[in-house]
Order: sequence, then structure tokens, then C-alpha cells
Amino acid sequence: MKDKPEEKDDAVAKTFARIFKRQTADSATIAGAVDKLAKLSATYPDLQAAAALQAALLRTMYAAPAPVQSLDISAETAAIRLIAGTPLLHGVALPFREQDLRALFLRLCASARNQSENHTSTAAVLEQAVQRGRLDLWALSHRLIGGEGSTLATDLDTQDLPAALTMTLLRLALLPFLEQVAVQLAPLRAGQSWQQGYCPSCGAWPILAEQRGLEQFRYLRCGLCTDSWEVDRIWCVFCHNRDHLQLGYVQVEGEEQKQRAATCDVCHSYLKLRSTLTPLSAPELLVEEVALAHLDLIALDKGYAPP
Ligand SMILES: [Zn+2]
Ligand SMILES: [Zn+2]
Repeated sequence: MKDKPEEKDDAVAKTFARIFKRQTADSATIAGAVDKLAKLSATYPDLQAAAALQAALLRTMYAAPAPVQSLDISAETAAIRLIAGTPLLHGVALPFREQDLRALFLRLCASARNQSENHTSTAAVLEQAVQRGRLDLWALSHRLIGGEGSTLATDLDTQDLPAALTMTLLRLALLPFLEQVAVQLAPLRAGQSWQQGYCPSCGAWPILAEQRGLEQFRYLRCGLCTDSWEVDRIWCVFCHNRDHLQLGYVQVEGEEQKQRAATCDVCHSYLKLRSTLTPLSAPELLVEEVALAHLDLIALDKGYAPP
């Protein structure tokens, strides 16, 4: 898609902003998340670099509006898709502008470059690839949400692009847009059952599960659009195994009430669990990525892997 003239862009952006005011993270939530990252880094010096980078990226993600248009999916179409196990956004044109996504991606590259010496050269490679049209973020985003996520990293590798950083920054660039899209989709999902481990809105795997309230009901949280959906506790969300003898946990002694990882010995995957009273906001989900990183190390060390 070619860029339109700038003046017209501004007018369109203002219209979008009027139609869809942010309904997502406010400045107090973002400040709270940044503060939690600072506390994590003070308590666990090993997390210092990761926490500082995540805080910088988080501030960048929410520094400017992410205008989103209205999605046109009927209740009937949504019901058919959900019954068939098809995420609502599969094959749908994303309801925001390519240039807004690209601008945020470039700002995230600059944040990563400034914040972390490890990323100085790779982030610069990415910025150049986007500016020279070698990296098509729009096509990549549609493939990611169209269910082709698993082949993207290999394709980026063959193009000599840093796959891990590209996917991390693309996910963070998409998130402020997609969390608003998920808010729009929520009424279409109300009352419809969804018995899948992947996200009913965008199709991504969950980044963690919340164990909510005293009853510890389990809600999966999508790492791409932040949507949430309830699932059974004795169930592997990745392979649907329900044999409790094949399901287990890994944890750090003393913190199992607050956080641990559920494991499956059929598909050898794991899912991080976090006890919460209320749903985590999108910035809080990004804090948990850093706070629960030790569970990833323990699970990987025991032979489990992400899906
Ligand atoms: Zn999602
Ligand atoms: Zn499994």
C-alpha cells in the first residue's frame, strides 16, 4: 500500500482518533508498570538490563496514539467463525494504517538501539530494512495474524534479518493497535464458547495464564492482542491433553502460590501461571514477561519448550 499525501493522512488520523478514543492503558497504568519494572531491577540485579529495556519499549509503545478504525464483522459471521475454531481476525484486513504501525516500529527500533548495547547494530539493521522497503511490516503482520507465525522466523533468517528482534518489536508495535481491536471484538465473543488454546481474536498463543480470584479460575492471556478467555485447569492448552498424570508444574519453592508454570508430558510444552485478583492490564502483562523469565529458564532446563 502506498502512503497518501501527508495532509490527508493527518485528517484521516484525526478522524480515527475521534471515532476510537483509546480505551486501553492510561498514563497511571503505564507509570505503575514502569515503576514495577524499576522495583524488579532493584530486587533482582540479574533482571536490570531486561527491565530497563522493557520499560523503555513500554513508554515508546504508548507515547503516541494508535488510531484504529471500526471493524466490520457481523455477529453471525463471528459466531460461525468461533464455532469452527477460527480466530476472528484471520484473513481480515487490519483496521489501522500501515504508516502508523511502521512509525511505531521505527520508534521501538530507536528505543532498543538507545537502551541496549546488545541491540545497537541489529536494531539499526531493522530500521534500514524498513526504510529501504526490504522488510514489509504490513505483509508480515497479516501473515502473523493469519496463522503463519511459525514460518516467519525462518523466512526472516533466510533474508539475513534478525528474526528474534524483528518478531519482538513487531509484536510490541502491533499490541497498542490490536488491544483496541480486541476491545471491539469482545461483544462478538460474549456468550460464545471457545475451547482452543490459541486466541479467539488473533490466533496467537497465550503468553501466560491468570489464576483469578480465590477460586483460581484459569484465564489465558494473548501476548499479541492481550485478549483473555477462560479455560479448564486440568487441560493442556497446546495439545488438549486432559490426563492429570501427564500434567505437572515447575516452580520455585515458596512462590508456587503466586506464580509457577504448568507443564505437559505429552507435547512437552509449558505455560506460565500468575495468580491475580483482577485481569492484568497490557502494560502489566509486559512487566510479567520480565518478572516470570526465571520460570522460562527452569522449564527449558527441564526439557519443556514454548509451543
Ligand atoms: Zn490475541
Ligand atoms: Zn500438551
